[in-house]
Amino acid sequence: MAHTLSLQHTGPHVGVPIQAPRFSERTERAMAQSEAFCRARGARLTPIRRRVLELLHGFDKPLGAYDLVELLGSQGHRMAPITVYRALDFLIEQGLAHRLASRNAYIVSSTVSSGRTTTAFLICEACGDVNEIASPDVADTVTRVLREQGYQPRSRILEITGRCSHCRDVH
Ligand SMILES: [Zn+2]
Repeated sequence: MAHTLSLQHTGPHVGVPIQAPRFSERTERAMAQSEAFCRARGARLTPIRRRVLELLHGFDKPLGAYDLVELLGSQGHRMAPITVYRALDFLIEQGLAHRLASRNAYIVSSTVSSGRTTTAFLICEACGDVNEIASPDVADTVTRVLREQGYQPRSRILEITGRCSHCRDVH
């Protein structure tokens, strides 16, 4: 016990990322845009919400809530699933992310919107690719049909499943 080296571990490592995540310029741009969007709306992008959104932007594919919990844990940010769910709720409310019911997963919104427009997702069952379609024609038609039905939508997400153009002819 005479030669205990105490210099190497000089303090708790809680909150220090083991491996700093590297995000692309595109992700950084998207994050800056999201931050500006929240600021303009007076919505608070807390560090937790920011991290969740950053992961969704960084991966650019649907991630389950538990994928996010695991990814955050691997970055040194241990979080309870409920915390991640709350962050996701906020992001959905702000129109920054969408929940894909058919995949039970979350994906970033490629068009930062007010959450009032209709978004259509084309989901490939073969390769898992998800393509967000922002079509004013679709939005207009859905709005008209909803009005005719006197229906008040809670979400306006269309999920279309099938095969993408790359997988269509592959058997
Ligand atoms: Zn595909």
